[in-house]
Amino acid sequence: MKKDIRSYTYEELQEEMKAFGEKSFRAKQIYEWLHVKLADSFSEMTNLSLTLRNRLEEEYVIFPVAMVKRQQSSLDGTNKFLFQLYDGNLVESVLMRYKHGNSVCISSQVGCRMGCRFCASTLDGLERNLSPAEMVGQIYEIQKIIGERISNVVVMGTGEPLDNYNNLLKFIRLLTDEHGLNISQRNVTVSTCGIVPKMYDLANEHLQITLALSLHGSTQEKRKKLMPVANKYHLDEVLKACDDYFKETGRRITFEYSLVEGVNDNEEDARELIRILKERNCHLNLIPVNPIKERDFKQPSRKSALNFKNKLEKNGINVTIRREMGADIDGACGQLRRRVSTTLQQERRKP
Ligand code: SAH
Repeated sequence: MKKDIRSYTYEELQEEMKAFGEKSFRAKQIYEWLHVKLADSFSEMTNLSLTLRNRLEEEYVIFPVAMVKRQQSSLDGTNKFLFQLYDGNLVESVLMRYKHGNSVCISSQVGCRMGCRFCASTLDGLERNLSPAEMVGQIYEIQKIIGERISNVVVMGTGEPLDNYNNLLKFIRLLTDEHGLNISQRNVTVSTCGIVPKMYDLANEHLQITLALSLHGSTQEKRKKLMPVANKYHLDEVLKACDDYFKETGRRITFEYSLVEGVNDNEEDARELIRILKERNCHLNLIPVNPIKERDFKQPSRKSALNFKNKLEKNGINVTIRREMGADIDGACGQLRRRVSTTLQQERRKP
């Protein structure tokens, strides 16, 4: 089997090339082709000898992340990309354009096995993990397509990043390596539904990335109704792990809370949320739930969401209602991939 060259960290590539009998500056050149010039074939690497290029071709492969669809929102300039991987699997990524720069939301798995009730990505379960190369590949492709630098990355697309922990760590290394795109760790956010042991592991890496915790319920009971993972890890344990992350890294946690009408948006929910977050140095993102057709979850009215936010704010919680982006282009996680793969399956079934 050919080796996945784009998943090697800079240090690993140096080791590889040494074993290959090449001088160490070759590793630097190849890494630059892969992670700065964003080459997707060895034939582009014109400062390497033809012999070396051929040898690389024989032993290694640059796994493709190939765009099959791009949707552009006419509301806010958000772009949604659908990419095809070497085995035909599809993943989606989102580009959001802000005043402070271009931000990309990437997927970390094909599908997901966490089962959150309101999420489209998890409806068909987990297909497989993405490799580090397939994670950076989403960002590289978008940067090439738009011809502009990506400055921020959020791992909030399909998948549970901490369920693909080792690949996630390598991905962060590749992305933030000074020999590559050199994106600042502070501009990287990883979102988790709360896999407690992996949260402790991540804290021990002492990275400067932001950890976002999907809360969605302010009591253990409420959370259990929306997130099956709460059956495994109690809310108290999850919050303790958040505190540990802050203690170890000095990075304040972002809590995410999808507002679902009649489910987690009443007075008592707000009160409990205040109780949990008041003593914590954190930020709260309220996200009006993005309805999916498979479930009957509704967004609260604008007024009721603002009311919820004001209550928290009055109690000193640092809170924003996240601007909904790309609502006209299958904005919710996993919607585009699901719609396209269903269509593809139907087409295949046609006589
Ligand atoms: N598995 C990770 C990251 C992917 S989901 C996690 O759970 O955090 C990214 C965020 O989008 C999570 O907070 C998730 O709960 C939320 N989300 C998923 N589907 C949604 C929907 N239909 N509406 C609003 N938020 C949703």
